[in-house]
Amino acid sequence: MDIEQFRKAGYAAIDRICDYFYSLEKLPVTSKVEPGYLRKLIPDEAPENGEDFTKIADDVKEMILPGLTRWQHPSFFAYFPTACTFEGILGDLYSSSLSNPGFNWSASPACTELEVITMDWAAKLLGLAPAFYNASEVGGGVIQTSASDVVLVAVVAARSRFQRDHPDTKVEDMVIYATTQTHSLAKKAAIVLSLQVRSIEVKSEDQYALRGDSLRAALEEDAKLGRKPFILIATVGTTSSGAVDNVVELAAVLKDYPDIWFHIDAAWAGVALACPEFREQLYLPEINESATSVCANFHKWGLVNFDCSAMWVRDRRLLTDALDVTPIIHDPSDLSFVGTAIDYRNWHLGLGRRFRSIKLWFVLRSYGIAGFQRHIRKTIDMNNLFVKLLSESKVLTLFAEPSLALTVFRITPPEGVDKFSAEALSDLNARFFKVVSARDDIMLTQTSLNGHVCIRFAVGSARTEENHIKQAYEIVEQEAAKVIETWRQHQS
Ligand SMILES: *Cc1c(COP(=O)(O)O)cnc(C)c1O
Repeated sequence: MDIEQFRKAGYAAIDRICDYFYSLEKLPVTSKVEPGYLRKLIPDEAPENGEDFTKIADDVKEMILPGLTRWQHPSFFAYFPTACTFEGILGDLYSSSLSNPGFNWSASPACTELEVITMDWAAKLLGLAPAFYNASEVGGGVIQTSASDVVLVAVVAARSRFQRDHPDTKVEDMVIYATTQTHSLAKKAAIVLSLQVRSIEVKSEDQYALRGDSLRAALEEDAKLGRKPFILIATVGTTSSGAVDNVVELAAVLKDYPDIWFHIDAAWAGVALACPEFREQLYLPEINESATSVCANFHKWGLVNFDCSAMWVRDRRLLTDALDVTPIIHDPSDLSFVGTAIDYRNWHLGLGRRFRSIKLWFVLRSYGIAGFQRHIRKTIDMNNLFVKLLSESKVLTLFAEPSLALTVFRITPPEGVDKFSAEALSDLNARFFKVVSARDDIMLTQTSLNGHVCIRFAVGSARTEENHIKQAYEIVEQEAAKVIETWRQHQS
């Protein structure tokens, strides 16, 4: 393809993308293709001779679009929606057209410098302390691929620091601290690094949040066993129910354990810190005072297309001490600690990296702080509407306190039934989830909280409006009533 052919194909691509977005609301949310559907449509080998690009683009429409789960659909309430924006799409387009591995400053000064600056913008947007700004030249921010990569980097750095300070420590004694509600990223990091995880139990009366007492009890028990906890992953907004670990209490306990790295995983909820009214409930003051590292995904609720996982550290040398493999050919004059001339290759796992800051820059400039806050507030308001509708339902009940834009709910035990065991209720809810997931006009996910099956409803797509919330509520209400009715018939 030459430049003029690219111009033509590029315009056509934008036209097709616009058509897709126009049609989105009328399309099903979920795909009904069978596993292996694509093998029947696409040959086993690449073509011998190059094909016409129009035909290739046509096949995207014919073969790929039908096999998509439509995360941008306004009735997508599963997982955590990814709030993709046109500004972000354009950022990705520029980024790939500049195709640039940007691993150190001199490899492409603009790539590094824009990331340094936009990560400070993002830190300020979320109200993080100046200690986390790149401008501090001590702490700083970096964009990673995912929250799981952020944790991997934090664990590697925490392990290095701990081993440096306690050279006699055996790796087999080292433990990552998390809770039963922590995202699988803790287990993933443990597998990759051959470390152990301790998943501390949390209680329903604490809304599934980790409390200081439980942390202290675990630490004292492990001290007796000679085990060495070296990092605590606390979650601000868990994936399952939006629980917020009690950062105040955890920070107070960790004062007695200064060797333990304190990571805050706010992958989902972190972007809500953009609105001052949510900062206290998300423990921002304590995070600012005591966290060693913080993660917030802009690629979830934060209007930036996947991927853009923001990581901040209080001391950048903890990353570079652990990950710096600088060969002389890369950088004879070490500029990697000063100003905007950071060598980001020493802040992450790979060498080359995508130019992701351009998406963040486009989004933050186009929305402005006010527009970003409006998006967060609007989605939370819509979740509150769902909660209000739910409060009027006879067949559905909240299972945990709603958290920002996430609601966990389930079927109310049917009236007139004296002994409805926890298992029977979980079975009923599993059946309820099955019928809801068989629909293609809405998508939700289920979860299990301390063994109780529930349904999650997460708002966050940039396209969801009130009417989609009302419609979603009607669907779950009707399906729940039908499931209960069938259950009753089986009883009699
Ligand atoms: C979604 C989520 C993650 C994982 O995010 P990735 O960027 O996909 O790795 C981690 N933690 C929490 C709390 C999440 O909600």
